[in-house]
Order: sequence, then structure tokens, then C-alpha cells
Amino acid sequence: MTASHAVHARSLADPEGFWAEQAARIDWETPFGQVLDNSRAPFTRWFVGGRTNLCHNAVDRHLAARASQPALHWVSTETDQARTFTYAELHDEVSRMAAILQGLDVQKGDRVLIYMPMIPEAAFAMLACARIGAIHSVVFGGFASVSLAARIEDARPRVVVSADAGSRAGKVVPYKPLLDEAIRLSSHQPGKVLLVDRQLAQMPRTEGRDEDYAAWRERVAGVQVPCVWLESSEPSYVLYTSGTTGKPKGVQRDTGGYAVALATSMEYIFCGKPGDTMFTASDIGWVVGHSYIVYGPLLAGMATLMYEGTPIRPDGGILWRLVEQYKVNLMFSAPTAIRVLKKQDPAWLTRYDLSSLRLLFLAGEPLDEPTARWIQDGLGKPVVDNYWQTESGWPILAIQRGIEALPPKLGSPGVPAYGYDLKIVDENTGAECPPGQKGVVAIDGPLPPGCMSTVWGDDDRFVRTYWQAVPNRLCYSTFDWGVRDADGYVFILGRTDDVINVAGHRLGTREIEESLSSNAAVAEVAVVGVQDALKGQVAMAFCIARDPARTATAEARLALEGELMKTVEQQLGAVARPARVFFVNALPKTRSGKLLRRAMQAVAEGRDPGDLTTIEDPGALEQLQAALKG
Ligand code: ATP
Ligand code: MG
Repeated sequence: MTASHAVHARSLADPEGFWAEQAARIDWETPFGQVLDNSRAPFTRWFVGGRTNLCHNAVDRHLAARASQPALHWVSTETDQARTFTYAELHDEVSRMAAILQGLDVQKGDRVLIYMPMIPEAAFAMLACARIGAIHSVVFGGFASVSLAARIEDARPRVVVSADAGSRAGKVVPYKPLLDEAIRLSSHQPGKVLLVDRQLAQMPRTEGRDEDYAAWRERVAGVQVPCVWLESSEPSYVLYTSGTTGKPKGVQRDTGGYAVALATSMEYIFCGKPGDTMFTASDIGWVVGHSYIVYGPLLAGMATLMYEGTPIRPDGGILWRLVEQYKVNLMFSAPTAIRVLKKQDPAWLTRYDLSSLRLLFLAGEPLDEPTARWIQDGLGKPVVDNYWQTESGWPILAIQRGIEALPPKLGSPGVPAYGYDLKIVDENTGAECPPGQKGVVAIDGPLPPGCMSTVWGDDDRFVRTYWQAVPNRLCYSTFDWGVRDADGYVFILGRTDDVINVAGHRLGTREIEESLSSNAAVAEVAVVGVQDALKGQVAMAFCIARDPARTATAEARLALEGELMKTVEQQLGAVARPARVFFVNALPKTRSGKLLRRAMQAVAEGRDPGDLTTIEDPGALEQLQAALKG
């Protein structure tokens, strides 16, 4: 048995012993009396009776040893600004923000909705909420009024913290008008709106409701705000999943379990040490931003780099220039960002001094082999794929290099992390699948610390959605499809709703995509299942070719389409061969880089694509439509 298997086995055989040891990584104002209470499964409680505070553990706790060390670096290539806050300065800013929120009548348990661009005040607001026991709900700045209104309606915030504008790829994106419209649409009305004025856009104010951050910040200088100690299971935040259908699901997170889970992951998975610098190129509106821009690195006494900008502006070397400049040790990004870089000059990867950088973590969507190889070879640094969800809050699958550097297998995010009793189960019977057999990736309860405790305001929905999806088995469904190999590595084969049924054969769209992208002509590809009168469903591929010449004429396209079909046929068999391969210059994605499969499928079936507020580039969907017609 390898070391990481041994740790995993122990975490399941003796969860109380294992997690009690991990709990020593954080400060507790009152020690917990019971490690685990699963008597009301699946409403699991960790560290029952223990009282702690996330802000204390992320900020105050480090003042003794590292007050003058950097805690937060902020860089904006959008506004050409950069600032560094030491732990002492961060403590001061967070205290002021906490005093302001209290001044606006925010009490323990109240919700504060944060609709902010990537500016330091967004992190201050999150930490300030944690400090006073308020529940933050960060809504990604890319969401427009209707989506924002739905979240205001559901979270019922007392205060909204926002700003005049963000900026994206050099274009100012006003936030305030979207917020005003969202509040107008919502039946719930927040009492106050606290506004950071970056002076990027005009900001009309609503008298009596809108408050100015800068003025308040001066007023509360020097005010000390003590941390409010929360019982471990009391909520720290609500974060809505990025899905685009139905009423948003508010993932509710606890306090003590989350703190322990993140602190543990910082060592076991991310190999972080106090004093290190971590650069997570994500947005605070996503779970990766919550866990690994804000809380994780700070809990571990590290410096975190918060970045407002894109990976290719002012040029394709910006991420690596930041690594050099801030001596970044650990970096976290998404496969989609790497695919964007792949279209740039590879010389950018070697232009800067990357000697500080130890590891590059990638998560959020499948990491295809060619992309993994390209970045790993280009940087000469290990790339660590990891698989998880908004719901889990921290990695479910990874090579846990802080325990042991198991050899990675390209195409697999790794093995189950300690604490997760991961099973591949048959979606019809609930029985465990043997190695090599596809099934639903599920987790037998209890979920480890840090995972969602319920759906905000809707316990029934939590049980129904997540715990009753698999028949004959009380297990948590990830709604992803996977397979385990003989060595215990898990391969993710796509989402359960992305499985297509071609004449009775069940195929994962992910497998077909992997096969297509193994052909060197392909830069990027998406496969969706489309209704077919004869076969039930057929696979359709939308493909970006690496060399535009290969899709310049109808003849060239036909030749390449034939070649790609042959690739799939050879690798997966004729049944998996896509019915058509269409060529486009862009694929419709969300702003977090996830393929908008449901929208693609809808368009391919001639239906309405639905809510598209988070689409990165609406032109991509139009291209798809044109390709289908053409
Ligand atoms: P919603 O649940 O609302 O539809 P979402 O699932 O896109 O939104 P997230 O929780 O951010 O929102 O994404 C988690 C999902 O992303 C996983 O369930 C999985 O499908 C995919 N994913 C994340 N990391 C990986 C990875 N390393 N490899 C493969 N897939 C991944
Ligand atoms: Mg999901």
C-alpha cells in the first residue's frame, strides 16, 4: 500500500481520529466535544460544540509571527495598478470593513451579498463577514441583472457590497446599473448598498440606501472589531453553483469543518508552507476563488496573489511575468486558460525566471492529455490535475503530493483524497462497479469536513437532489460519470447528463472529445448528443482546427471531417463516431471557462438555448448556428 492509500484508508477507518488530528491546524476558542455527528445523515456535523472563526484563523492568528509579511498582493492589468497588504495591513482593512458592516446593521447570521470585481475590497468584505459571523454570498461579477436578482431573492441579504465597475480585456463593465436593476427586479430589498468607487464609471446613488465605502473607511479608522466565535456548523457562506437552469442552488458551507478541510488541503494536496506565495488565477465569484484565493492560502500563513486581468493581456506572458515578479511558489488555474495560452507563442513559457514555481494545479473541467503535456513540458513543472465541485469546497480527486508524489496518469485527476469514500456506482442498481466499468462518481457518507452542509434554505432539496439520485444507496452523487482503473486512479468521463445514447450504446461525450483532440489537427473540441429519429441520439462535434488552412474551403473541411471520424472510429469504434464534425473559431463557454453544453445541445436541436448571462462570447453560439445551417 502506498502512503497516500494508507492515509486515505485511515481517514475512512477512523474518521474521528484522523480529523481530530487535522483540527489542530486551526485555533479553536472553545474546543469541540464531538468530532463527528452523523445521527441526522446526510446532515453531517463536524467538530460539534467547537467555536472558531475563519477570519481569526486567516488573519489575526498570523499577526504574532508575520505581521509585516505580505498577505495579499493585488495586481490589475486592467487598470495598471498593484498593491500589497501585509498581514497587519490586511487586519486593519478587514477590521474597518467589519466595522462598516456593523455600522450598516449587519448582525451575526445576516447575509451580505458581494457583487464585486477582482479588487482587494472584495476579499476584505468576505473576511469581514467571517469576522462578525455574517454569511457572505459572493455573486460572480459576470452575472447580469436577472441572475443577480434570483440570488438576491434567495439569499435575502441585509447589505450588498458592490462597486461602480469592473474591467475586462480593457473594457469597463459597469456593475452599478446591473445591481440597481437586479434590486428593482427582486422582491427582497437589501437595507443598504455599500459602494466602492473606482472611478471607472458613472455611479448614480439611491438616497438613503447607497453608502460610500471610502467615506465610511475614514470614519471607522482604528475601530477594533472582535471576532464573533461561531459554533463549527454555523454557516460561513452561501455560494450558488454555476448552473444555468432552474432556481439557483445555494451551496451552504459550515465554519469549522471548512477551516480544517482547507488547512489540511494546503499541506496534503497543495504542498503549501507558511510564507509561500500562491497565485490562483480564478475569480472570487467561484469556489476556487473562495477556497484558494482567499481562505486556503491565508489560513496557511501564505501570501495570496489576486489578479484582475486575462491571461493574454497585455501579452501572452503576463501570468509568468507575475510568477517571476512575486516569486510565486504555487499556481492554480483552469485548463481553459491553458488552452488560451496554447494559441500564443510558446516562447512566453520560457521568457521569465520561474525558479520559484513548484507546482501548477489545474481544475474545473477535464484536462485533456495534449494540453497537460503542452504546459508541463513548456514550463518544466509538474502539473497537478484535481477534480472537485462547488459542493465539495476542496479537491475530491488529486495526486496528494503533500503526502506522496504518486506517479500521475494523464487524463486522470488522480485518486480519491483522504476523507472521501468515493465509489463508482451503477446508476440503475446503486451497486459498486468493478475497476474498468463506467458508473456514477458517488461518495458514501459522511462527506468529509468542508463539504456543503445543505442547500441554503431548502434542506429537502439537498436530500432530493444530491442524496436520492442513485437508487438503493444513500450516497452523494457528483453527477459526473467516471471509471476507476486497477490502481485506483479515477477518470472523469463527463457529466451524467452529458451521456448520450446512440442506438442503445451509452457513450460519454468526454471520451469522444478526448479521442478527437488526440488528432494533432484539433485545437479544441466539444461533443454533444443531439436527438435523432433513428438512433435516439447521435454525437455531434464542434471543432476548432489548429491550422485555419485546413478548414478554409468546403473541400478541406470535408476531408478533415472524414479524417477526424476515422480517428474516433479507430480509437473507440464505429458506434462512437460523431454523425457530423462542424468547424468553428470559438466554442460557447461560461466566463469560468466551462463549455455551455446544454446551450450547444439546444441549438443543435433547434431549441432555445436558455439563460446565457454568463456566456463569455455570444458570437460563439452564433457561429455554431451558422455552422449547423451551412
Ligand atoms: P452546476 O452544478 O450548477 O451545473 P458546475 O457543475 O459547472 O455548475 P462547479 O461546481 O464549479 O459548477 O464545477 C464542478 C464540475 O466541474 C464537476 O462536477 C465536473 O463536472 C467538472 N470538473 C471540475 N474539475 C474537473 C477535473 N479536474 N476534471 C474533469 N472535470 C472536472
Ligand atoms: Mg455541478
